[in-house]
Amino acid sequence: MRTQMTGRKMFFAGKWVGRNRSIDVRDPQDNSLIDTVPAATAEDILQCVEEAKEGAKMAAAMSVHERMSVINKAAAYIEANQEVYAYTISREGSKTIREATKEVERCIQTLRISAEEARRIHGETISFDQMPGSENRVGYYQRIPIGIIGAITPFNDPLNLVAHKVGPAIAAGNAIIVKPATVTPLSALLLAEAFAEAGLPARVLSVITGYGSEIGDALVTHPAVRMISFTGGLEAGEGIVRKAGLKKISMELGSNSPVIVLEDANLEEAVAATVSGAFWAAGQNCLGVQRVYIQEQIMEAFQLAFVEMTNQYRVGNKLSEQTDMGPLISEKEAIRVENIVNEAIEKGARLLTGGIREGAFYSPTVLTDVPENCTISKEEIFGPVVLLYSVENLDLAIKKANDVEYGLQAGIFTNDVRKAHEAIAKLDVGGIMVNDSSDYRIDAMPFGGVKKSGLGREGIKYAIEEMTEPKVVCFKL
Ligand code: NAP
Repeated sequence: MRTQMTGRKMFFAGKWVGRNRSIDVRDPQDNSLIDTVPAATAEDILQCVEEAKEGAKMAAAMSVHERMSVINKAAAYIEANQEVYAYTISREGSKTIREATKEVERCIQTLRISAEEARRIHGETISFDQMPGSENRVGYYQRIPIGIIGAITPFNDPLNLVAHKVGPAIAAGNAIIVKPATVTPLSALLLAEAFAEAGLPARVLSVITGYGSEIGDALVTHPAVRMISFTGGLEAGEGIVRKAGLKKISMELGSNSPVIVLEDANLEEAVAATVSGAFWAAGQNCLGVQRVYIQEQIMEAFQLAFVEMTNQYRVGNKLSEQTDMGPLISEKEAIRVENIVNEAIEKGARLLTGGIREGAFYSPTVLTDVPENCTISKEEIFGPVVLLYSVENLDLAIKKANDVEYGLQAGIFTNDVRKAHEAIAKLDVGGIMVNDSSDYRIDAMPFGGVKKSGLGREGIKYAIEEMTEPKVVCFKL
């Protein structure tokens, strides 16, 4: 493994380069300095796009077997160095080492699926003779690479969410410029290292480190960047959509996911899955369970079991294998979560457990009786806080679950197949998990939201569709 974890350089069109100005990367757990990365400028982005123009030609010229081979080699490199990757994710972000290890395993999967999907990018024949006068024509469409993709990624899955853009982009024959979250750039740079080691032609991939507020516009508004693939919060996403101009946009945004638990559900399974879904990655998870609607007959039993399991969570040192939950990404974020919880309590919510902040740590928190007029009822909390609601019936649960601006994923626990189907038909979300929480995903499924949770879908095959365009060919005979 080549990585030298001091004064990291950024991956600029196949070269590792530094800049005079740098950004400190700190461990949120104790604020210790892990490394520094260059603070790129808008001029860097402009130059990088010029390089990527060549990169796009090179990527498109790679045969499918070459693309597959390079992606598989990158996956193998990560597999051979799994511990370094997991340690980096855990150190710079807020995941525990166990959560980080899972992310590395998923990243390897994401890349291997990307390599596989490269051989399945095809079009279809077209029956031109359906149009009178077109009897003597035959043809087809094929899918061609879109060109240069600008990828902007968040802090909470700093490796796998980058792989979800880089893998499909390269599989489809595109060049890609990644701007990772400023607080977690090291994992994305490690991904670039895997591709460099795998022999990806220079200029096809860049990972440019810098503040979104300083370099974002240059990437987003550049006319040669044909697609912006963004994963992050609603505010930044909406700003990007307004500025991007005429290009493809893929938006993977936030949510405040609901889970419905009906009286006939397996209580033990429902509790275990919703607790894990609420507190995975300290709740900093776009699929995280935020609102649980429990049928009134089982509310008391569910609540008791839920709080008991929550209280068993071991919060502490991220790097210990024993730890279940680490800190939030910063003390500032923990204070934001604390304020939102306190506002709910002041307005009448009941705190069942948690609500304690120490630096960047916030204890797993369970609230009930949360009034509608609290921020937490409608907005995304993005922290380890879950709201339990008692509901009379499925109808009301669905109505309340839908009564927010987000719609990424939802879960329902029931053994009644009709009720499950009713929920599937009526919940306004991009995915529904029956007998699981909203927090379930495999990397090969179509993934994305409706309403303010986003636009477009990821999940390799679906990302490839967004990252390619059909080109029609017609022969007049
Ligand atoms: P964020 O603050 O929106 O930042 C995301 C990325 O956007 C970062 O790289 C950030 O750069 C960049 N950015 C910010 N302002 C920008 C601008 N004006 N122009 C261009 N880029 C800009 O989100 P976050 O706090 O990292 O992540 C949390 C959010 O992501 C949550 O809402 C979560 O639900 C969502 N998320 C969604 C999914 C999904 O698949 N649907 C997955 C994971 C996370 P800087 O770091 O330099 O500010």
